Amino acid sequence: MRSSAVRFVFPLIAVLASALPAVAQSKNAAPDWPAVDKEAVQRLSDYIRVNTTNPPGNEILAAQWYAKILKAEGIPYEIAESAPGRGNIVARLKGQGSEPALILLNHMDVVPVTRAYWTEDPFSGLVKDGYLWGRGSIDMKSLGIAELLSFLELHRMHVPLKRDVIFLGTADEEAGGKMGAGWVAKDKPEWYRGAGFLITEGAGSLADDSGKPIYFGIGPTEKTPGWLRLTAKGRSGHGSIPIADSAPNHLVAALDRLRQYRSPLELTPPIEAMLRTHAPYEPEPWRTRFADPKKFLAEPDAYDLLAKERPEILARLTNTISITGLKGSNKTNIIPTEASAELDCRLLPTWTIDRWIAQVQKIIDDPSIKVETILNFAPAVSPMDTPLDASIDKAVHELDPGAGVVQSVDSGFTDSHYFREKGIVSYGFEPFAITREDDERVHGDNERIPVKNYTAGVRLLWNIVYDFSRTK
Ligand SMILES: [Zn+2]
Repeated sequence: MRSSAVRFVFPLIAVLASALPAVAQSKNAAPDWPAVDKEAVQRLSDYIRVNTTNPPGNEILAAQWYAKILKAEGIPYEIAESAPGRGNIVARLKGQGSEPALILLNHMDVVPVTRAYWTEDPFSGLVKDGYLWGRGSIDMKSLGIAELLSFLELHRMHVPLKRDVIFLGTADEEAGGKMGAGWVAKDKPEWYRGAGFLITEGAGSLADDSGKPIYFGIGPTEKTPGWLRLTAKGRSGHGSIPIADSAPNHLVAALDRLRQYRSPLELTPPIEAMLRTHAPYEPEPWRTRFADPKKFLAEPDAYDLLAKERPEILARLTNTISITGLKGSNKTNIIPTEASAELDCRLLPTWTIDRWIAQVQKIIDDPSIKVETILNFAPAVSPMDTPLDASIDKAVHELDPGAGVVQSVDSGFTDSHYFREKGIVSYGFEPFAITREDDERVHGDNERIPVKNYTAGVRLLWNIVYDFSRTK
C-alpha cells in the first residue's frame, strides 16, 4: 500500500497536472515503483486467499474483492453474475477514443488442489524463500493483479489516454469459460464496446535457472478443441454367446483406426513463426531444424523424430486425437445395445469442425457410428505487426535487453478466442518469465511465483499498457 502522505498530496498533483498541456503530463511519468512492488506482493497474497476453486468457482468473492479496491480508488465498476456465485467484473478508464480500446482480461477462477501434496497451504499467499506460494500465483491471479495495477496507476497518475482501457475479470475459464468470458462476449457487449485489442494469459515466457528472462512469448492464436463423441449401436445379448458386429466391437475397430492414424504434418503460418522465433533458444540439431521448418518437415524422418523427441511440437503441426472416455455395458455378462467413446481432438488454426468430422468419418470408415461434437469453436488468428505487438517488443527490449520476443501457439486454449473471433486483436502474453520447473507446477502441486520475476512482470506490463494507451 502507498503511504498516507502520498495520498495526501495526490489531489494537488492532479490539480497541477490538469493545468499543464497533455504532452507534458505524459512525459516521463512513472509509478512510485518501490511502493507498487510492495502493493503487488500484498495484493497477490490477499487475492490468493480468496478461494475461487472451480468447481464451484464462487468468483463473486473475487469480483467483490476487486470491487472494494476500485471503489477505494474512486473508479466505477460493474459486477454481473452469469449464474448465482459466478461473478464477473468490469471497469473502464476513459480515453479520447481516437484509438480502439484495450481489454486487460483475467480469469478469476483457479483449478482444484490436492492439499496433501502441497508443502505450504495453497490458499495462504505465503511469501517464503523468494517465492509467493499458492493456487493461482501463476495461473492467473498474478497477471490479474499486474493488470489491476497498470489500470490503477493510469488512473492514479491521471495519464491522458488516447484509448479506453478496460479491466475485465471473468469466471469459469478453467472449465471452458462459458459462464465467464463466453457469457460476457455474448450477453454483455457494452462491457467491451469499442475494444480492438486484448491481453490475457498464454504463450509463456521463459527464465533460466538463475531467474534471468530468456524470452517473452506472444500468442496470436491457439489450437481449437474438436471434442467428439462416437456412438455405436448394435444387437444386445448374453455375453456367453459373442455377437460379431456388436456395438462395442464396432466401436473398438473404429478407435483402433483412429489410434493408428497419422495426421499429416501441416505447417501453418503462426506455427512457422513460432518455430523460427524459438530457433535461437533451441539446442542443436533443433536450432537448425526450427530455423528452416519447411526444409526440416520435407525430410522423410521428420514425423518420427518429432514423435519421439518433440511431441509438443508435433501436436502443433497436426490435428491430434486422444481417446479419453469409454462407455459400454455396466454388466460383464451383457453385450450392450450402445457403446460410446469421447475423443479429445485438437485442431490446427486452419481447420473447421465440419472438415474435421468428415476426416474422422473417413478414417473410421463405418457409417453406422454416429459422430457428434461435444466442444468446438471457430478458429481465428490475430494479426501480428500491430501497435500492441510493437509496444510489447519495445517494453521487453527496454527492460530486458538480453531477452527475446517469440511467437507461440498454445496447444491448449484460453478465453482469448471468445474475443479473437469477434475481430479483437487478442494476444496471450505472460509478463512473468519463469523457469521450466516453476511452469510445470501450474495446475499441479506447490504452484508458486518468484517474487522478483513477478514484480519485474508488473513493471513490464505497465510499460506496455502505458506506451500503448497514453497520448504521445
Ligand atoms: Zn489460466
